[in-house]
Amino acid sequence: MISDTKPSGDQCSACGRNNLTQFFSRKNSPVHMHTLFSQRRQAMDIERGSILLACCEYCGFVGNLKFDLSKMHYDSTYDNSQTYSAAYMHYMDDLANRLLFQKGVNNCTVVEVGCGNGSFLRKLVEKEEASNKGIGFDPAYRGPDTEMDGRLRFERRFYDHRASDTQADVVICRHVIEHVPNPFDLLLQIKAALSESPDARVFFETPCFEWILRNGAYWDICYEHCSYFSNNSLHALFERAGFAIKEIERIFGSQYLWLEAQIRERQDHTSQDGITKAAMDYASHESAFVAYMKRELRKFDGHIAIWGAGAKGVSFANLIDPTRKLVDCVVDLNPQKQAGYIPGTGHPIVSYQDLPERGVKSALLMNPNYRDENLSLLKENGQILQLLDIGCYFT
Ligand SMILES: [Zn+2]
Repeated sequence: MISDTKPSGDQCSACGRNNLTQFFSRKNSPVHMHTLFSQRRQAMDIERGSILLACCEYCGFVGNLKFDLSKMHYDSTYDNSQTYSAAYMHYMDDLANRLLFQKGVNNCTVVEVGCGNGSFLRKLVEKEEASNKGIGFDPAYRGPDTEMDGRLRFERRFYDHRASDTQADVVICRHVIEHVPNPFDLLLQIKAALSESPDARVFFETPCFEWILRNGAYWDICYEHCSYFSNNSLHALFERAGFAIKEIERIFGSQYLWLEAQIRERQDHTSQDGITKAAMDYASHESAFVAYMKRELRKFDGHIAIWGAGAKGVSFANLIDPTRKLVDCVVDLNPQKQAGYIPGTGHPIVSYQDLPERGVKSALLMNPNYRDENLSLLKENGQILQLLDIGCYFT
């Protein structure tokens, strides 16, 4: 928490007004949450940055005023793949089926902006009866240029005005906008790319900041995420950039926002929906949460793990146990991460099967959406583990 809460003078990246109030600061935060480290020393000796969150009093957008894009390097040591979780794959299947069967994404050319390894786009193209073509844009894409006889292809570049000759019916952008310090520019680039496809439907997915506030999820704040959205600030941003919003839904247990929009002439209907008071309350309780969590974890005498080495787990470990006094290790299902170390703290990342020999009898689950999956893995393995929900600690 910072004591001096004052307007920053910066412009809101969503609605464009000058109504930002600083409310939350954190220093020495790991810049990358998903970098793979095989050496503990390397994992601890990482680049760090400051987080200074400011909230727009008008639309509710939250941005990190200290974010420095030049620190970000998404190279081959970056692995945020969640495809090792059956529960997450099931979630992605549901989302793809929603597009295919409820939203009528058939006979369409689908562009995915920031497609990563293409696993989501592939789901929209692989069902032959849907007759979709897919083009994934991502400068960091690694893999074959084309798949499925050319129906799916990848471009290792940004999606901007230079892509306007690529006709598109649907544009999908999942978990990109929260990594972008100027989301307004991103939308203008997408709009420029769609200059020859003005009727294209646009779908975005991003974490819901209201969920973070309501759940006191301090571990959901990280350097990589420099822009946080509420339902209202997404409205403000898209309308300012010249998109009409069809709907915004909360999905993935309300942790994410899912937006559908289309280009139109600008009509500013954004209403005022400040979340500053809730943001201030959230920030003011962080130190109490940290102290409480440390007290609770101390009771396990080192025989506890964190379950989940994604952004939540990395952020939580750095916040609660930066010197590895309380938590033995971090569990992750991604075999690429196992035998590596958590950025910033150096906690070892292990398989759940390694817990008994480490003397770990309890684990703190970072995301309740994976509870059932993890319990069934433990059961299949005949393993007894107390799986604690982090949610029970802040309500
Ligand atoms: Zn705003």
